[in-house]
Amino acid sequence: MRTPNNKVALVTGGTGGIGTAICECLYKNGFTVVANYRDFTKAMKWREEAKKWRDDQLKMGIDVKVVEGNVSDFKSTEKMMKEISEKSGPVDVLVNNAGITRDAPLHKMTPEQWYEVIDTNLNSVFNCSRLVVESMISKGWGRIINISSVNGQKGQFGQTNYSTAKSGMYGFSKSLALETAKKGITVNTISPGYISTSMVMAIKEEIREKIVAQIPAGRLGTPEELAKLVFYLASDDARYITGANLAINGGLHMY
Ligand code: NDP
Repeated sequence: MRTPNNKVALVTGGTGGIGTAICECLYKNGFTVVANYRDFTKAMKWREEAKKWRDDQLKMGIDVKVVEGNVSDFKSTEKMMKEISEKSGPVDVLVNNAGITRDAPLHKMTPEQWYEVIDTNLNSVFNCSRLVVESMISKGWGRIINISSVNGQKGQFGQTNYSTAKSGMYGFSKSLALETAKKGITVNTISPGYISTSMVMAIKEEIREKIVAQIPAGRLGTPEELAKLVFYLASDDARYITGANLAINGGLHMY
């Protein structure tokens, strides 16, 4: 039985594989949840897909609102935050989940591949956090949860752009945690290993098997396991955890 709380959670890239599980989990645990998807001006299909996503969720009893916005662009993010504030209220829990990969070894990487990944995975964290932190400070409560990656911790061949963006989240989170620790706000990163989203399941089976063979737990993680960790960090119980990085990778990388 869902007991509504009075908190608004925004999940960027909320209609993707991991985002969907986070939205469902937060909704079931009482949050008013808003899922961000990409700015439709770039391609009408995103708006149609988001509407279908919301309809599918509603059929399962999950009432998550959807909102357009390109989080790699400050102005677009500003417009989106204004809309959320007017329709649902100020954001209490921000989950910076939107992300992309554009892999290539550095000697072949184009400036476009570099900037697109940095803008989407890292500059989006500034854009969204900057636009919600003041209202969190004035309320004396807030949660910012940044979805990083094991590849931000250990590096990955062909991912200088992605690893840079994901490890940049650690410095951002620790600094903002220091700035907001006395204001009832926590700022943390989660670094997932391989999670069984459609992106990972689309990898050729024999390659996926090789990946799984390297994971001490012997399997991929599930989006639901990750979502429960996000929920814990969003809860009051996690009030003393800030500036931390929580790894969820089945033992793939430990330090
Ligand atoms: P998905 O591609 O399913 O989800 C990412 C979402 O971000 C998509 O909905 C995507 O939209 C959206 N997005 C991309 N760019 C923008 C933008 N500029 N503005 C708004 N939304 C945008 O991937 P996952 O669910 O697997 O990944 C979620 C997060 O988890 C990412 O940050 C990823 O790096 C991280 N991660 C994933 C792992 C995994 O094993 N799956 C492992 C470690 C980290 P669109 O569909 O239109 O592209």
